Formats: sequence, C-alpha cells, structure tokens
Amino acid sequence: MSTTDTIAGRDLEALRAAVAGPVSVPGEAGYDQARQAWNLVADQRPAVVVEAGSAAGVAQAVRYARARGMRIAPQGTGHGAEPLEPLDGAMLLRTTRMRQVRIDPAAATARAEAGAVWADVITPAAENGLAGLAGSSPGVGVAGYTLGGGMGWLARRYGLAAGSVTAAELVTPGGELVRADDGHEPDLLWAIRGGGGSVGVLTALEMRLYPVRELYAGALFFPIARTAEVLHTWRAWTDSVPDEVTSMTHLLRFPPLPQLPGPLRGQAFAVVEAAYLGDAGSGADLIAPLRALGPDRDTFAMIPAAALGDLNMDPGQPVPTRGDGTLVAGLPAAAIDALAAVAGPGAGTALASVEVRHLGGALARPAAGGGAQPSLEASYMIFAAGFAPTPDAAAAAATQAHAVKDALAPWHAGYDYYNFAETPAAAGAVLPPASSQRLSNIKASYDPDQMIISAHPVSPARP
Ligand SMILES: Cc1cc2nc3c(=O)[nH]c(=O)nc-3n(C[C@H](O)[C@H](O)[C@H](O)COP(=O)(O)OP(=O)(O)OC[C@H]3O[C@@H](n4cnc5c(N)ncnc54)[C@H](O)[C@@H]3O)c2cc1C
Repeated sequence: MSTTDTIAGRDLEALRAAVAGPVSVPGEAGYDQARQAWNLVADQRPAVVVEAGSAAGVAQAVRYARARGMRIAPQGTGHGAEPLEPLDGAMLLRTTRMRQVRIDPAAATARAEAGAVWADVITPAAENGLAGLAGSSPGVGVAGYTLGGGMGWLARRYGLAAGSVTAAELVTPGGELVRADDGHEPDLLWAIRGGGGSVGVLTALEMRLYPVRELYAGALFFPIARTAEVLHTWRAWTDSVPDEVTSMTHLLRFPPLPQLPGPLRGQAFAVVEAAYLGDAGSGADLIAPLRALGPDRDTFAMIPAAALGDLNMDPGQPVPTRGDGTLVAGLPAAAIDALAAVAGPGAGTALASVEVRHLGGALARPAAGGGAQPSLEASYMIFAAGFAPTPDAAAAAATQAHAVKDALAPWHAGYDYYNFAETPAAAGAVLPPASSQRLSNIKASYDPDQMIISAHPVSPARP
C-alpha cells in the first residue's frame, strides 16, 4: 500500500473539510510545489502537506494528526529546512498562507502570524518610524528565525529577536490553541524565546519594535586576496566599537550569473559590512580605521532602516545551498589565520559565502524576561555556505563548510548558534548548556510523545 493510500484510508476528506487551506498527498498535482522548501537542496517527502489558512485550521490539522499518531513538522518558508530529519509518514504543516501583521505604533509592538516573513513586518513598522529585529534577509520567516534566536543588524544594541518576544499563540501537541505571555503559560513563553519550535505549532508572535528610522550603514569591498589583512584589522576594530555598531566580515564569491551587476559577477571579495545606530559624522569617524585600508568600493551612507535587508546581499529567491555555522569564544590571530587558510584566497574553496559576525554587546547580556536563548555566550559567529545545484556540488559545499568549522574547533564556544547550525544536531548542541534541561522538562510536559518535529530535536526528560 502506498503512502497516499494510507493517508486516503485515514480519512483524507475529513482533513480537507476541517482545514481552511490546501491539503496535498503524494501523487497529486500540487504536492511537489507544496512540499518545496526555500532551500532547494531539501527534498522533503511527507505523507501529507497541509497549508493552513488560520489558527483554527492549524488546530484541526494537529488534532487530525494526533488522532492518527502522525508526527508534525511545522514550517513557514523552509529557509531552515536543511537540518530537518526525514519527514516520511509525517505531516508537513505549512503556515505560508498566514501572513497578517498588525503594528501597534503607540505600544511599539507587532503581532505577526506564523507565516509572515520579515518584509511583512519591516514595511509597516517603518511607516511608523519603527524597526523589528530582523535578520540579514527580509525573505526569512519571522517564526523560524525568532524561535531560533534571531541575530540581525541591530543585535548588539537590542539583542536577539527572541528576547523581544512578548507573547505567542500556539497550538499545543494536544490540539489546544493557547496564548503564552507575561501572565500565562510561562514555560511555553520561555521555550519559544529561542528554544526552537518543539513545543507546539506557533500561530502568531508578538514582539517589541524599536524607534529606528535610519542608520549609517554600508559595505567596504576588498579583493579576496586581502582576506587575512582585512580580517585581522576588522577583528581588532571590533574591540573598540560601541553596542550601536553591528558588523561582520563577509567573504563572498559571486557566481558568473548574467543577472548579477557587472562589478560583482564572477568576482570574489572580502567585504566588511556594518550598521551603526547614529549619524553620518560619528559613523565616518568610527569606520575610519577600516576605510584606511583603502577599499575598492565603499557604500557607507545614511540609509532607511527598511533598506538593511540589502546590506548582506543574501539571495532573495529560493536557492539550493549547503552550509554550517559555529560560535567561537574568541578570534585570536591564530584563529583568523586558520580561517583564512580554509576560506581565503588560497583555499581552493567553492564556498559562496563565509560570514564572521561580531557578537557581544546586548547579545552577551541576559534578556529581561529570560528565555531558552537569553544571550549568546560567544564572541563571534561563523557561517559558511556554498551553492548546491548538483549532488556533487552539495557534497563539496558541505565538506568545505565543515572544514571551516573544524579549523575553528580550538576556539569553539561550547555550543553552536541554533539558526545557523545546518547539520542535523540535537537542541542541546545549539543552545546554552543551562537551557537544555529545562527545555527537555517542558517537552516532557507538552509533547512527551515527540509529535512535533523541530529543526533541532528536543528529547523529553525521563520521569
Ligand atoms: C538567506 C538566509 C539568511 C539568513 N539570515 C539570518 C540572520 O541574519 N540571522 C539569523 O539568526 N538567522 C538567519 N538565517 C537563518 C534562519 O533564521 C533560519 O534558517 C530559520 O530557521 C528560518 O526560519 P523560517 O521560518 O524562514 O524557516 P522554516 O524552515 O520555515 O522554519 C525553520 C524551523 O522553525 C520552526 N518553525 C517554523 N515555523 C514554525 C511554527 N509555526 N511553529 C513551530 N515551529 C516552527 C521549525 O522547527 C522549522 O523547521 C538566514 C537563513 C537564510 C537562508
């Protein structure tokens, strides 16, 4: 009997009737499109894909799955699909149709449905002079990003996005729609603030916004041959900057694609990118030591907060990529030399992007209200990724990304950053050690049967 027959035999029509959205099973037109993640390398083959249109639809889908002993993988965009376990026999519960966003300008908060992407929040927030704690790409989902911490261009000033979550609405594995906030469900709120999506299916998040209209931000482009010099100078510079500066060094190898601008097409660079919450005069003073290196191209200017999504040059459209990331306690000269050896000009690597992000500042201070990722106990985050259009390219990208991680192992912070850990890993490997036990206890209370599949699995604590 095929999986389709199995699901049909389990009253597929009842599911279709209960859920306000498309339901697709293998063999049907629409199944392949419905199961497709943003990261095209992920070949997800669930028993059924439900595209819920409302929180009530999510609750119906969860109850359906519960009644049939079926596991559920909640997913918005699929930017984070790479580390997921195989979905055979499972329900892929997509929230892509749930994208409503409401801004409360007086309270400086946003409520975003679980399928919203950051662009859905950034635009209306900016109309009110506000900014959310989005990451480098506006196409990334608010839900998955925030559940995994959420590190963006305002991070050293305002911390992880998870720390700004004030409330969450979710359907528990028992099928009940609940609200977790200051006065209700403290364990669920704690888990959602950075512990990943293992305790239920999120239907909406509420979060604080910040009064940011414009910033001094941009990129300095150097030939990739100058990688070591740029990294050493930038690293020393990061010791001196205030929390208002969030920056990274980004090694970029652009493919020779005709749609890329001429100066970037087929070229490779060591780029320093930074965003400064301040004016152009003091910003120029701050970046003077980097400018003194003599970049080939300098894009620093005052920009609207809503334009931050262009700074990192992330791919806007779905692409096949393979990558992995790590956290380091520090980046002494030897660590930079090790990184340059595996990712720099002489490495013979095909990695399209190697980011070295500066942490510290508000990221290092526990967020008021706590959470599973109250802070990041590391000084820098490194993420390496390559394009993976063929199995050979995918294998090469994975090998090279792991080589970057291995080269930095002597300086490892003890765990990796949840959102950039793309190799399958348990939650304990991507959360602060102090959070793992409490998350396991919460999992045991709300999902002892491990019905919810999450990017990084949590084992329920044994009684
Ligand atoms: C181009 C690009 C740029 C990025 N930039 C940044 C960055 O600047 N900073 C950063 O921190 N990260 C960044 N990331 C990583 C990104 O945050 C993670 O991949 C994140 O998981 C994406 O969230 P999503 O909702 O878009 O993805 P999805 O794949 O849809 O979700 C990822 C996981 O989140 C959980 N989840 C999603 N929706 C729900 C739900 N409704 N209920 C319960 N669980 C749910 C599930 O476990 C799911 O597997 C980037 C990734 C890419 C590809």
